Amino acid sequence: MDKKINVTIWNEFVHENTNEACKKMYPGGLHLAIAAGIACDDFDIKYATLNQDDEHGLSEDVLKNTDVLIWWGHCAHDKVKDEIVDRVMKHVWEGMGIICLHSAHMSKVFRRLNGTTGKLLWREANERERIWCSNPGHPIAKGLPESFSLPYEEMYGEPFQVAPDAQPIFISWFEGGNVFRSGLTLQRGNGRLFYFRPGHETFPTFYDANVRKVIQNAVYWCNPTYRAAYPKTHRPDADEPITKKEVDFGKAGIVQD
Ligand code: ZN
Repeated sequence: MDKKINVTIWNEFVHENTNEACKKMYPGGLHLAIAAGIACDDFDIKYATLNQDDEHGLSEDVLKNTDVLIWWGHCAHDKVKDEIVDRVMKHVWEGMGIICLHSAHMSKVFRRLNGTTGKLLWREANERERIWCSNPGHPIAKGLPESFSLPYEEMYGEPFQVAPDAQPIFISWFEGGNVFRSGLTLQRGNGRLFYFRPGHETFPTFYDANVRKVIQNAVYWCNPTYRAAYPKTHRPDADEPITKKEVDFGKAGIVQD
């Protein structure tokens, strides 16, 4: 590639400091495992976390220089400042790509971009998940098998209150019988969004080769092809001549009382 894709992995980074199982599974943080899984010559990867500074590591400068933002959050969604959410929205509408992972379905950024509550069913029972690809022609599914399984995961089940224009690429079946639309794409403004379900903090999901491949493919797909603020001139002069004319009520089919 001519230019590297600038990826910023935003991790809440709270469970790793408070939950022994998570600390053991992801020493140093989930963001490091996600980065190790997608690293390649085409990506320049940086990190941002909730408490690293008073802007959650997402200054205007960081976002301006981010092509694709990856978001993992769970227990501190409400700690994310609204002004930072507004900033992320602006950049997505202008074209920045965003990948929301697992419990990010309840994050402020996903709920605002999705436009619904983002609610779903869930069960933490270390059950097997089989993920089926329902759209193998999509670039995010490139190189993946028709299905793959994860031995231990948290169940997310339907109904998933997601926007009706979300396009499913992956569908999960769980050992306990539930199903879920696990991989979904949305276009918001100029920006592309991919939601991917797996990735509970105490399970080894981010070490799985197929999960890593999906996220890596999604970075390529979410990389902006066009990025600009909405045009400043909202009332442009006409390019073609317009003949000034009065409204003919008869021709317009308007009947006045
Ligand atoms: Zn979880």
